[in-house]
Amino acid sequence: MFMSSHDFDFFVIGGGSGGVRAARMAAGFGARVAVAEERYFGGTCVNVGCIPKKLFVYASRFSEDREVAAGYGWTSGEASFDWPTLVRNKDTEIQRLNGIYERLLKSAGCEVFAARATLIDPHTVEVAGRRITATHILVATGGWPLVPQIPGHEHILTSNEMFHLEQLPKRMVVVGGGYIAVEFAGILQGLGCAVTQLYRGDLFLRGFDTETRSFLADQMRHKGIDLRFNSDVTRIDRTASGLSLQLKDGSTLEADGVLYATGRTPMTANLGLEACGVALDAAGAIKVDAHYRTNVPSIYAVGDVTNRVNLTPVALAEGMALARRLFAARDTQVDYDYIPTAIFSQPPIGTVGYSEEDARARFGEIEVYTSSFTPLRYTISPVKEKAFMKLIVEQGTRRVVGLHMCGEDAGEIAQGFAVAMRAGATKEIFDTTIGIHPSAAEEFVTMREPTRR
Ligand code: NDP
Repeated sequence: MFMSSHDFDFFVIGGGSGGVRAARMAAGFGARVAVAEERYFGGTCVNVGCIPKKLFVYASRFSEDREVAAGYGWTSGEASFDWPTLVRNKDTEIQRLNGIYERLLKSAGCEVFAARATLIDPHTVEVAGRRITATHILVATGGWPLVPQIPGHEHILTSNEMFHLEQLPKRMVVVGGGYIAVEFAGILQGLGCAVTQLYRGDLFLRGFDTETRSFLADQMRHKGIDLRFNSDVTRIDRTASGLSLQLKDGSTLEADGVLYATGRTPMTANLGLEACGVALDAAGAIKVDAHYRTNVPSIYAVGDVTNRVNLTPVALAEGMALARRLFAARDTQVDYDYIPTAIFSQPPIGTVGYSEEDARARFGEIEVYTSSFTPLRYTISPVKEKAFMKLIVEQGTRRVVGLHMCGEDAGEIAQGFAVAMRAGATKEIFDTTIGIHPSAAEEFVTMREPTRR
């Protein structure tokens, strides 16, 4: 269909969210496609990210659910948790998903290489000892955990290892204040570890709405996490009883395990990018234009390797847009405005649009509506988890430009409201929407008086 003297029309390096989606779509449009994946099909999300993480979040919630249940009249015997069972069942599910990803590629007609591929020139890759040519090459190799090289860094665990530990350490220190650190702090606490989380700045989740992240910090402390801000580790030593962490303030902390979730780095090393002249930014990410083109016309990149919006659904959207553009002659731009996102902390955060701080800087005149309450589920429960909800309205246009929630189901709720916000819903549209009663989400359509202007 696509006349070319090359072996393939499209060669995709990396079988994660972005690469697999681009490959399948391209094959669906009639392109001759090959995909190389050296590690695991499905990439970070399926293997050591979103999916097993969410399974762990579910696992960790049962301890508190049992306490809640007591308020509803349920009693049950002594509880115990078996980590190896969780890891084994999770592995079975992940293996099933790996198989599905590989089969999807094959049934779409893609040639699949379970091997590392490197670039030789702008139209040639080397894979499994073969040189293969392609009209277009996509680099979708994702990212990898990055840890500071402090003395004793060899004792550090990253999110990659957390999914395969043989035993669950009893005392865990989590370092970092991004999505991964906050999510794992909640998981480990729920699974029964004593958790200390250290973040180097004043307040974790930098970039998110300040009031919402302060609320989460309070809830996490209330659940028993020792959350310390303006705190960092300077060295780690193994001792007879575990690990000893030297902190910046001169104090020490004893632990059995230390997880660093201090960011991720694009996987661009030793791929042959330099030899082809592909430009990288200071962080080592591949630089692309609005159409995912690098500075080398036949080479493209999507997803975390470009280090822009590092979220699976964004990589999927980018992969699809690229495949359509190259092989269906359709230009569909990914819209990066009002991308909803969730942090699967406990309680979770769901958010769409601008934080109060960013909205004030961007729009000037805004109205802020807030509400904090005990969700019905926790009213007759000994566990007193609270929820916080917040709307930000641009005063001139009345448009709702920010929606934030920290509380049960926040991710599910934010997904629905994201549609309304992308459609430009005003505060009046929110106000005339009938609530679903009793629900937490109805609070977003019943906020009458601004908390501040
Ligand atoms: P992030 O980049 O989100 O956060 C890194 C954190 O580590 C920040 O708090 C940062 O602090 C801190 N940090 C960075 N370097 C150091 C250092 N040398 N010493 C101490 N602290 C340091 O990274 P994550 O690893 O949490 O997540 C990576 C990406 O994966 C996220 O950005 C997100 O896009 C994606 N992700 C999405 C999820 C979801 O959608 N639910 C879940 C998990 C990951 P500071 O703020 O001061 O820079």
